[in-house]
Amino acid sequence: MNNTSRLVVGETYANHDIVEIFKCGNMGGMRRSLATKTLVLICDHTKGLYEDKWMGNILHYTGMGKRGDQTLNKQNKTLAESNESDIKVHLFEVFEPRKYVYRGEVFLSSEPYREIQKDEDGNARSVLVFPLALLNGDKPIEAHLLNELLCEKEHKANNAPDNVVLQRALENQSQVVSQREAVSTVYIRNVYVSEHAKRRANGYCQLCEQASPFLNKEGKPYLETHHIEWISQGGSDTIDNTVALCPNCHRKMHVLNDEEDKQYLLNKVNNESND
Ligand SMILES: [Zn+2]
Ligand SMILES: [Zn+2]
Repeated sequence: MNNTSRLVVGETYANHDIVEIFKCGNMGGMRRSLATKTLVLICDHTKGLYEDKWMGNILHYTGMGKRGDQTLNKQNKTLAESNESDIKVHLFEVFEPRKYVYRGEVFLSSEPYREIQKDEDGNARSVLVFPLALLNGDKPIEAHLLNELLCEKEHKANNAPDNVVLQRALENQSQVVSQREAVSTVYIRNVYVSEHAKRRANGYCQLCEQASPFLNKEGKPYLETHHIEWISQGGSDTIDNTVALCPNCHRKMHVLNDEEDKQYLLNKVNNESND
């Protein structure tokens, strides 16, 4: 039995697993293994200025070479010729440092093309981009991986100096936005529990106690229901865990989830339901 058949799509592997399974090197984004006739591609979203972008189910993968123009040799050549050769190309994606998610075997879905990108020293250079598709179809990844990755990147952008933010914003704007399918868990909350909370609030936010900021299309005060103990963290969909908040306070609870606010809301709903 071939070693690579042990791999499970969607599972997370460590770098040493990849080295052991493919008998490839332990560094770099494109790892050629003569022993297993494979080319392992690592698409690391946590690194680099330029991202390999998904457009639907096609990954636009940037070739090898960190400085100067990339050339169609070595691993780039292997990948460019992989549809006609007996080399199998396997893809891993990294959303959190050192965690390699196996995505499956890929093939070139169209001809590689060239694009101008800046290298690490800020010099414009020509890179090779390989459009890749998964051989057995795309199995959507977990949405939370993408969300956490985005949070991490936002954090970096937050801490960058103004000139860097401006420069990156100018360089990275795009007309066509990268998009991909992802799966997420949806909690089916009870509409009556939610409606009850809104009626109990009677048009006033239960945190700031101000009147709702606007009326909805039906002319009713607009409020949002919120679970004091978040459902995603095991909270229940019950009357004594549900409040109606104005959009500002709702956002505040999700951004800060301040313990004092939580206690205030819990006391409020529990006292009210005892009336
Ligand atoms: Zn409020
Ligand atoms: Zn909420």
